Amino acid sequence: AQRALLQGQKLEALGRLTAGIAHDFNNILQTLSGALQLIPLTHDPARIRMLAETCQRAIARATKLTGQMRSFGMAQDARLATVDAGVAVGNVLPMLHSALPPNIDLAADVPAGLWPVTVDALQMELALLNLVLNARDAMPDGGQVRLAVRNEVLSERTTALAAGDYVCIALSDTGSGMGPETLARALEPFFTTKAVDKGTGLGLPQAYGFANQSNGTLALDSQPGVGTTVTIWLPRAAGEADGVEEGAVAGQIDMT
Ligand code: ADP
Repeated sequence: AQRALLQGQKLEALGRLTAGIAHDFNNILQTLSGALQLIPLTHDPARIRMLAETCQRAIARATKLTGQMRSFGMAQDARLATVDAGVAVGNVLPMLHSALPPNIDLAADVPAGLWPVTVDALQMELALLNLVLNARDAMPDGGQVRLAVRNEVLSERTTALAAGDYVCIALSDTGSGMGPETLARALEPFFTTKAVDKGTGLGLPQAYGFANQSNGTLALDSQPGVGTTVTIWLPRAAGEADGVEEGAVAGQIDMT
């Protein structure tokens, strides 16, 4: 459990780091855009050279940032693998448990016989952690989190999904819920209703990005004062799961 806790804290730190980097990038782009707007309006060659140097420095900073992201394993291509959905979720449960305070109960319903899915295990782990952290934040006085995974046959296509077989992961909480304005904007990157040092506004976009990257989708269902359910659909992978050893999914994260 200690290892899972550390891993959860590292992932939370990773979320904040991502937000910090996004902020830095924004500043760099603003510098570049400002200098590039000034150059055609400037006649003094010395000043033009200075503006060009400003651009060069901004680009150097951006390059350094990408280097940092790469060393943190963030700027990598998705590492897709076909895994048994039950094993994949089961592997991250200890970490999810230790991300929650004692007054929040996590019940997991992960039946046997779930279909395989093709996912980036690290992204999946991050997505579930982000959802659990949101549930935690929505229940300052405690409550219940329920993680239910099931196979689902979609007989007709919907706006977001083709008809077919899906593994459906639903995470419900008994927290504050979201009003219509929050619900409408919740998936927007950097949208947060939390204090600056608490929220990054990148949790749900990451989870949504994970679902999309896996050719699935994510839906939010929320009622103020009652709670929230976030559902992720992942398409059933053709064929069998690759030989996944117990612990192999969670073991992919190494941010020491
Ligand atoms: P962050 O958690 O950093 O604010 P997210 O993108 O994860 O960023 O969430 C955006 C916003 O959506 C939150 O600030 C919160 O207002 C709302 N939200 C997300 N999940 C929940 C939840 N389970 N219950 C209530 N509100 C939520």
